[in-house]
Amino acid sequence: MATIREAREALKLYFGYEQFRPMQEQIIEGVLQGKDVVVLMPTGGGKSVCYQVPAVVQPGICVVVSPLIALMKDQVEALLANGIPAAYINSSQTAEQQYQIENQCLEGQLKLLYVSPEKLLSSGFLAFLRRVNVSLFAVDEAHCISSWGHDFRPEYTQLKALKQQFPSIPVIALTATADKLTQKDIQEQLYLRNPQVYVASFDRPNINLMVKPGRDRFNKITDFLARRHNQPGIIYCLSRKATESLADKLKRSGFNATFYHAGMSPNQRAKAQEAFLNDDVLIVCATIAFGMGIDKSNVRWVIHYNLPKNVEGYYQEIGRAGRDGASSDALLFYSYADVMNMRSMLQDNQNEAQTELQLVKLERMQQFAEAAACRRRILLQYFGETMTKDCGNCDICRNPPTRFDGTVIAQKALSAIARTQERSNMSLLVDVLRGARNAQVLQAGFDKVKTYGVGREVSTLDWNRYLHQMLNEGLIEMAYDQGYTLKLTEQSKQVLFEGRKVQLVKFEEVKQEEAAVKSRPKRELIKDALFEKLRTLRKSLADEYGVPPYVIFTDTTLQEMAAERPTNKIAMLAISGVGAQKYERYGDAFITAIIDFINEEQNKGNKIKGATHLATFELLKKGYSVELVAKERNLNPVTVFSHLATLYEQGYAVDLSRYVSKSEYSVIAKQISKQGADAKLKDLYEALGEKYEYYKIRLSISIYKKENSW
Ligand code: ADP
Ligand code: ZN
Repeated sequence: MATIREAREALKLYFGYEQFRPMQEQIIEGVLQGKDVVVLMPTGGGKSVCYQVPAVVQPGICVVVSPLIALMKDQVEALLANGIPAAYINSSQTAEQQYQIENQCLEGQLKLLYVSPEKLLSSGFLAFLRRVNVSLFAVDEAHCISSWGHDFRPEYTQLKALKQQFPSIPVIALTATADKLTQKDIQEQLYLRNPQVYVASFDRPNINLMVKPGRDRFNKITDFLARRHNQPGIIYCLSRKATESLADKLKRSGFNATFYHAGMSPNQRAKAQEAFLNDDVLIVCATIAFGMGIDKSNVRWVIHYNLPKNVEGYYQEIGRAGRDGASSDALLFYSYADVMNMRSMLQDNQNEAQTELQLVKLERMQQFAEAAACRRRILLQYFGETMTKDCGNCDICRNPPTRFDGTVIAQKALSAIARTQERSNMSLLVDVLRGARNAQVLQAGFDKVKTYGVGREVSTLDWNRYLHQMLNEGLIEMAYDQGYTLKLTEQSKQVLFEGRKVQLVKFEEVKQEEAAVKSRPKRELIKDALFEKLRTLRKSLADEYGVPPYVIFTDTTLQEMAAERPTNKIAMLAISGVGAQKYERYGDAFITAIIDFINEEQNKGNKIKGATHLATFELLKKGYSVELVAKERNLNPVTVFSHLATLYEQGYAVDLSRYVSKSEYSVIAKQISKQGADAKLKDLYEALGEKYEYYKIRLSISIYKKENSW
């Protein structure tokens, strides 16, 4: 049986990651012990590793059932890039191609095989699998089995055949859908034996949650995009037409945008998706048809142009951002008009019970949008998870709303509702309060009522906000069936006649933006020149190898490279996400780019910490002696020797035996072993009877460290 230690080694070797995320380790241990396992983890949580690592360390092949052909292709590409032999088999391939892959399985050449459920259940396939050494079945997107869920796939209900026909082979079922019913369905319908169930937190702390008023969306979007140069993202729109017109408008404003919806031909859709995956197009305006089956890890932001229908949908869509763990943004535009549109759309539905359910869900979504408390708490609470602290990475946390005594404002509004005989909708009421002279107001004769113009000092936007708050608190009601006119309630009367006080929330938008930029969490993308350079390199390598850029390295990996600036093999392999295979393929290219960058900076006269030894190295390579380097670089020879020591420790090819002979070293090393490699030079110097020069001791320490580090 493979051990967890071997699993950890495989994680480093193949994936380049130092350690498992909290739940991954337990899950993998369970799988290695041959247990059935159910994994509920949010998108980006790292589900794939849970079966890919066991697949690598166990003999035989892991068969992965996956519903989406596009996703299979992506996963296989990513595995191959990490040096793990994998393939997929589905109806998009010719019989000949399928036959070849089957042969590879029989010969034991593959560690993972992805199949569609249709293929798995097609005649003869299970019989074929009997001839293959299967180590594990992984059922991805396992919620598709549940008829309660939103992605029900009838084929999935036939997957019980796996346990029936292969009772001794463990099954791991994975999904990003959290609810209990789905979880139960998965266990029962797959016939799992005493499965271990792991439910990870659904929190995605790297996603910054923001809600903005829907007015003037286009300008707000272009502002937002201008600050996210070169960062890919998705704008979700309600209608197909809206995706096209928004993409068009963005293009005319100079943005690299396209659109995607289910009304396009499969070919057009594939093209749009491909361009986005490859970073050729950075912005996709899409209906919610877009995103299922997209594994792109460097989506940096998601905008909802309109309020989503429910929180589930919203959460799934924003979850497409930041799968690599780097800081990402989710921006939602909210307007009351959207809610009203959506309501009337839902009410057209014939099925009454459905309509009611949908309306309730919409209301929850609206509450989220109007929240005056930490948005992440509200979101997680919706999924049954309680946070004990505010998140610090949402607009409300960054700019807590201030409450003030809004009794007078509320009274003005309520009185205006009364005096217009409860016949005005929200926008008409605001016009009356602000004393607007437009046709609607004049026709209704509302310019004659006593409250006409009493709310001039409050902006239209603020009036809208206050009225929404009052709606939420039940101080007014909206008659959806009477042209959305506003009505008084029992509670309004308390405010008007019984001296009840009203607290309102004030938002300060400008401050919000500044605060958002200032208080970014630690995993902020480093958007410096080096990061850009590495990104460009990644793109050209991706084009050359015919894979999406994030398959080469994720944004987080590039970010770490830009921060750490590794310039040799050891340092490069220490970067998270750089495994052996990727180092082999791309390591040199990235090291060269980093060294180039450092040299360019130095030539520009920018002194940068920690890289001056590389300039020394360049001269040494040309055959300069230490003295000459010192002269050329206008440095003290002692400094050049310390460069030499650093270079040696970092694995550069420098020959120290020219400066400290073997016999000298053996004496000095003895002393170092007594006093420790971090002893002061001066102490060593004295202990050695002042017989060896400082630089010899310094270099000996480097040799000593290296000799004793493994
Ligand atoms: P999911 O399938 O749950 O949506 P993935 O398996 O695609 O998530 O993983 C999301 C991202 O996190 C990927 O970029 C993956 O390589 C990375 N990842 C997974 N496990 C680890 C780990 N232990 N350490 C660092 N990164 C990880
Ligand atoms: Zn918060």
